[in-house]
Amino acid sequence: MAVVGGPLPRHRWKRWRRLVRPAAVWYKGDVARHRLRLLVVPCLALFVGAAGAVALLPGVESPGAHPAAAAAARPSPSGGRTAAAAPASAGATAPAVDSLVLPATPLDPSRLSGYVWPLAHGRITLPFGPTPWGTLIVDGQLFHDGVDMATFCGDRVVAAHAGTVLAAGQHFDQAIGWVGDLQPYFAHLDRYHAWGTLPLVVIVDDGDGFRAIYAHFGKIVVRPGQVVAAGQLLGYEGESGYATGCHLHFGLFSPLEKATFALRPDIVKRVKLPALEIARIDPLLVLPWPAPLGLGPGDRHPPQPPTAFRPAAPL
Ligand SMILES: [Zn+2]
Repeated sequence: MAVVGGPLPRHRWKRWRRLVRPAAVWYKGDVARHRLRLLVVPCLALFVGAAGAVALLPGVESPGAHPAAAAAARPSPSGGRTAAAAPASAGATAPAVDSLVLPATPLDPSRLSGYVWPLAHGRITLPFGPTPWGTLIVDGQLFHDGVDMATFCGDRVVAAHAGTVLAAGQHFDQAIGWVGDLQPYFAHLDRYHAWGTLPLVVIVDDGDGFRAIYAHFGKIVVRPGQVVAAGQLLGYEGESGYATGCHLHFGLFSPLEKATFALRPDIVKRVKLPALEIARIDPLLVLPWPAPLGLGPGDRHPPQPPTAFRPAAPL
């Protein structure tokens, strides 16, 4: 519908404005811009100089550093340095991990300390490694990227290490090391109203360069940003998400890791998740051994010290 007597068409309005705008306005504008430039350029130079100086300081994290690395480098507030969290085997020659400046690659799992079992009396129902039930592919084999342990629905799940909660609930995918864009996946969840089908998950930055993943809670009692100690209650064992019964999926990875695991292509295609995740390590490499009660000859995972795991080839 045409509007009679409405505003001028855009091209005519521009021409009219050019004609009537006094020259002084243009001049003033130029002077103002020039003055602004005089102010901004030295400020910028100062800022760049300061940032450069910070970057050169030994052991200081530059504000512009990779966010994942910066998050990982943040020392854990209670740091696993408390007497309760530190394992008895940590001798005087082994410095606390979080007192070190973290390297650009993850620490070897044998150097991690302060871990406790997240389920006090869990039996391992599915170990880390190749399995027909895996959703990942590593070296051409279906693979389970964490360790599943179970007791009973509603049992206490505690933090395996001191740290800071990064995510708690169903919005956790941004914190679990997907390599790629998550927007198509989030759009897929929105489109099919599928957020409710996701497991309840807690992600904790352990302060040693690694992040812990706890999945399938029935109920979570911590919130993002909260600082937790090793052994502190995170929530209660459940079967939220894709699970055949109450259990805890416990995973461990470092945002500093370059190696990746591939997600099954059919899952990538169906739900639009990224095709790769950062490689995980076997959590049994850091949990105290021997394992707590419940592990026996009948378990699928025999009670023996874990062997070192080599992740897939780097990107
Ligand atoms: Zn699992």
